[in-house]
Amino acid sequence: MHTEFIALQNASPGTHQTLQVMRFGQPGASPKVYVQAALHADEVPAILVAHQLAAKLAVLEASGAINGEIVLVPFANPIGLAQLVQGQHHGRFDLRDGGNFNRGYADLVPKVVTQLQGSLTQDIHENTRIIRHALHHATAELPAQNATQDLKNKLLHLAIDADMVLDLHCDHEAVMHVYGLTPQAPMVEALGAALGARAVLLATESGDSPFDEACTRPWLQLQEMLPGFPIALACFGATVELRGEADTQHTLALQDANGLCNFLAQYGALSQIKTTWPEPQCAATPLSGSEPVTAPCAGVVVFHRQPGDVVAAGDLIADLVDAATGQITPVHCKSSGVLYARAGARWASPGKRLAKIAGTSLARTGKLLSP
Ligand SMILES: [Zn+2]
Repeated sequence: MHTEFIALQNASPGTHQTLQVMRFGQPGASPKVYVQAALHADEVPAILVAHQLAAKLAVLEASGAINGEIVLVPFANPIGLAQLVQGQHHGRFDLRDGGNFNRGYADLVPKVVTQLQGSLTQDIHENTRIIRHALHHATAELPAQNATQDLKNKLLHLAIDADMVLDLHCDHEAVMHVYGLTPQAPMVEALGAALGARAVLLATESGDSPFDEACTRPWLQLQEMLPGFPIALACFGATVELRGEADTQHTLALQDANGLCNFLAQYGALSQIKTTWPEPQCAATPLSGSEPVTAPCAGVVVFHRQPGDVVAAGDLIADLVDAATGQITPVHCKSSGVLYARAGARWASPGKRLAKIAGTSLARTGKLLSP
């Protein structure tokens, strides 16, 4: 294993932040797998899984079981990791401007499409190599106006030429769930099965360019824009939500690291692992069908349902209690499905997302992810 530290743009004089990058296997070898943890820096179960994964990969590397290269970034967001305000950790949004650390990644396709038109061939494998090279080069040229933009560009540069990109997150209170691209549904489902996911949510475009889609969607976009050339979906990507933010247990982290290694072995990135094919815990559902159950008014939240509960349309999910008026407002869901995540806070203001249900009856449009 080789560890490198990439210097990030200084936010202010006298400070110095680095990105730690752990490389296992042969540098530049194929398949390249890229795994990063806690891009939302307060989603620390991801860091615990990265810790277990690093230990496992070191053992596998020593026995020659890594077939290509595995790049692990155990702290993907040093900026967010340092954002403590009066004792509270704020790792989801950049305190400088309120931007979400997992949105707004560069759209690389306009930067490469003209050049690719002149260089692509009728050989699909050769085209993968050409496109990867062009995308990788484009990420090296991205301008950064501030430290967060610089971090985003550097993460994208590390991942863009990978065959597989796994972005490890968690929700507030949740069961294991996975987000992925609809055209890659079989692999997303296999990943969900390997991790025991209770929800697998698929979209062709979630909106606002989260990290995994910035790596995967260029291949889809190029297929659409350059129909005269054979182009593979050569980068598989997914966002893994490792349950809730308080779910830090050694046993769970080890189980999750084992699940990830099992999936990597199925995929051909690891050998010497007895590959198992666990039964999926759920069927994939469209992200557009995921229901955000929202608070119609302010109040203290009293939940009636837990993460992992299977609910029916019309079920009572929570009460909102207003002590000033004595009013209790019941909040019901519209969808049937698995309640896969719920809010961590117990005070709701109007419009707050209280819970998310993996349903099939809604057809939301526009931006599909939480803000
Ligand atoms: Zn997250």
